[in-house]
Amino acid sequence: MYLPDFEYYAPDSIAEACKLLSQFGPRAKVLAGGTDLIAKMKNEVLKPEILISIKKLDQMKKIEYVPGKGVVIGARSTHNDLVNSKVLNEKYLSISEAAHQMAANQVRNAGTVGGNISNAVPSADLPPIFIALNAAVKVTGVKGERSLALEDVFAGPGKTNLTQDEIITEVIIPDQKMTGSNYIKFGLRGAGALAVVGVAVAVQVENNVIKDARVALGAVAATPVRAKKTEEFLKGKKVSDEVLAEAGVIASGECKPISDVRASAEYRTDMVRVFTKRALRAAIDKGHV
Ligand SMILES: Cc1cc2nc3c(=O)[nH]c(=O)nc-3n(C[C@H](O)[C@H](O)[C@H](O)COP(=O)(O)OP(=O)(O)OC[C@H]3O[C@@H](n4cnc5c(N)ncnc54)[C@H](O)[C@@H]3O)c2cc1C
Repeated sequence: MYLPDFEYYAPDSIAEACKLLSQFGPRAKVLAGGTDLIAKMKNEVLKPEILISIKKLDQMKKIEYVPGKGVVIGARSTHNDLVNSKVLNEKYLSISEAAHQMAANQVRNAGTVGGNISNAVPSADLPPIFIALNAAVKVTGVKGERSLALEDVFAGPGKTNLTQDEIITEVIIPDQKMTGSNYIKFGLRGAGALAVVGVAVAVQVENNVIKDARVALGAVAATPVRAKKTEEFLKGKKVSDEVLAEAGVIASGECKPISDVRASAEYRTDMVRVFTKRALRAAIDKGHV
């Protein structure tokens, strides 16, 4: 498995990177950590002729709190940057915990937030927790910047709504009233396995009443999806085991999984029921996001 030949560019600015992507069109691809792209090139699944590395774009490698805006995560931040971030450990521990459940240290040291989203793999671990926390992404292209809800990035397995010249530069987690959040995943091994099912939730609970809820499911549809009927069901309900169990049943009706080598559709559907209930209980009991 050798890498095929390719041309390599490492621009100094985001604008230049977008210009190169526009100039070369579909023959070019962004190279971030390379954990996915390089493997696909070796396996001849993808054959880009030109790689535009973003490794010099240090403005995309940051995790900071911006008052009035929220937590801004640069798209070049690695999974271990999320695990070790003081800002996230203080403000959104569930994101650090989700990143810690990914792959092994080597991949977590190289794989990036932008790559995890842009891959648009239904089983990716970061999109569900970002969606549950109402994240937006900032995207830059030759025509300028735009912002879109993270859930709107995905168009299908391996497909995004980004144009050829666009780069994801930031993920923004807005300030919010949620009191708890959590992501749990089921993989076929204890560590380093892709999600067979991933469930992320965020809840706002006051005086034991669920004021607001967001539920996002991974690996059980063509894209990460929000379980909107489950969210509506939860709003205004008093917390009880019965309510959380019912939420699990409703969520299991909101997924459209496929059967593949890792699990059958029926198994995934039932795991959504169980994991939604567990994720909600953990988010409520934790009492922090
Ligand atoms: C052994 C192994 C285990 C893994 N385990 C997990 C796991 O547990 N959970 C999980 O979710 N994933 C897992 N992955 C998949 C992968 O590591 C992650 O999805 C990672 O986040 C990809 O990021 P990257 O920087 O390496 O992307 P790259 O490989 O550099 O790029 C991936 C794709 O995204 C595009 N891209 C990258 N950055 C941007 C950007 N900023 N804007 C626009 N396009 C961009 C590239 O052009 C390419 O198409 C695993 C991979 C391996 C090899």
